[in-house]
Amino acid sequence: MESERVLIFDTTLRDGEQCPGASLNLKEKLEIARQLALLKVDVIEAGFPAASPGDFDSVRGIAQEVKGVTVAGLARALEKDIEANARALEKAESPRIHVFLSTSKTHREHMVQKAKEEIIHMAVKGVTCARKYCDDVEFSPMDASRTEPDFLVEVVRAVIDAGAKTVNIPDTVGYTIPGEFAGLIRHLKENVPGIERAILSVHCHNDLGLAVANSLAAVQAGARQVECTINGIGERAGNAAMEEIVMALRTRKDFFGLDTRVDPRHIMACSKLVSTLTGFFVQRNKAIVGKNAFAHESGIHQHGFLKRKDTFEIMNPKDVGLDDSDLVLGKHSGRNALSHKCRELGYDLTQEELDRVFQEFKILADEKKDLYEDDIITLIQKQRWTEDKLNIYKLVKVQCRFETGSLPEGTVVLLSRDGQEHTARGTGDGPVDSLYNAVDKITGLSCKLLDYQVMSKTRGKDAQGEVTVRVLHENREVLGKGAGVNTLEASCHAYVNAINKLLIKPKTGPVSGAEVPGP
Ligand SMILES: [Zn+2]
Repeated sequence: MESERVLIFDTTLRDGEQCPGASLNLKEKLEIARQLALLKVDVIEAGFPAASPGDFDSVRGIAQEVKGVTVAGLARALEKDIEANARALEKAESPRIHVFLSTSKTHREHMVQKAKEEIIHMAVKGVTCARKYCDDVEFSPMDASRTEPDFLVEVVRAVIDAGAKTVNIPDTVGYTIPGEFAGLIRHLKENVPGIERAILSVHCHNDLGLAVANSLAAVQAGARQVECTINGIGERAGNAAMEEIVMALRTRKDFFGLDTRVDPRHIMACSKLVSTLTGFFVQRNKAIVGKNAFAHESGIHQHGFLKRKDTFEIMNPKDVGLDDSDLVLGKHSGRNALSHKCRELGYDLTQEELDRVFQEFKILADEKKDLYEDDIITLIQKQRWTEDKLNIYKLVKVQCRFETGSLPEGTVVLLSRDGQEHTARGTGDGPVDSLYNAVDKITGLSCKLLDYQVMSKTRGKDAQGEVTVRVLHENREVLGKGAGVNTLEASCHAYVNAINKLLIKPKTGPVSGAEVPGP
């Protein structure tokens, strides 16, 4: 007998992207969406089309390009939001409009300033309006976990009658506790007439570190959709982590008796991509995707571990896409092998992109002995950061003098889009600072460096370092990335990448005054 399924609704690109500093561009969002489709999530929430022209374009782009998955957009219970959503989703294979409205007492009084009856009226109107455009409508009573349970019953009943096919119960502020949340789900199941006509969903935040536990408790009580994000990213303490939900249901199928459609072998690739593109690193001890998450990484080998893996390991690292032998290509690998590997990793490169990656690959293969999957991914990302056609500056050369006891001095050569070469020299507290000061002399911008991090992408002394910087200029914060075996050069690439982002003006300003954060 086939077991029942839990739908996985991924909101990495909406709720996850909403957290300060994550901001992804359309290309990056598409890349993540493609990985999510490979991972076989059921729904991708691609954005909030009414929030900004950039968000609108992202939802439209993903709806157009990513197939085999439902694409959802978020909307307030307002006609203009819903209409923008419908336009953004026009080309989707399977579109869903996700309407939300605050229902808790505190939100009713301080955010929307509406009485209970008005809330029900607005919710019904929103769902009815969305159903005009789309069969698949989801409704979220925002701050549901702090809403009076009996009022919540009324709201849920009304939106199901109006045609909502999924009703999502968000713990918007991360306040609930597993036993309490399961009780709320049961309360709805027992008291809402017609509840069987809709799928009950949950959306939990991690303010008390309970997002995954709350979601699983709700599933046990009958919820059949979980909203979550890769690596648990999101505002404040984040959302429920998808990889944890999926692997808990899978590993403890004996307990839950439920399945998901997700192919967990793509979990690691997805986690790495999201971490790289958002600049939010995954802590070493993070469940499932942290570097130390599996026993075989932490030196327990020496003891009886190898004889029987299950003495310490409840999951097989291979199941989430971790493979000890990910040594992939060598010096003599050809273009075809590289092209094949890129596709296998989920990247669809143009001929031009492949040419550049191949060139860099040959250089890297000379610089370091072993090439891993992560090296290939870093090369692909790196050429995207440096070869973007919109870039104003390109780093040509870096030179740095550094000696204990003397002031570091750096020289950089940048090529600007008009074909001119610019050289400048700078000094600073350290070599990186001296190089950044030299870059500032050329660009004329004086930026504040908010954060600087280097992470080694693979193992070994010759590993590529990935440098992430956060740079502030006139109230705009951008993320810069660079990578390479030479950390100083990579640091310079990261800074120039950030400068390019600052110089390319983004489309800003909400389309319809949307400032509400969402459920
Ligand atoms: Zn949320």
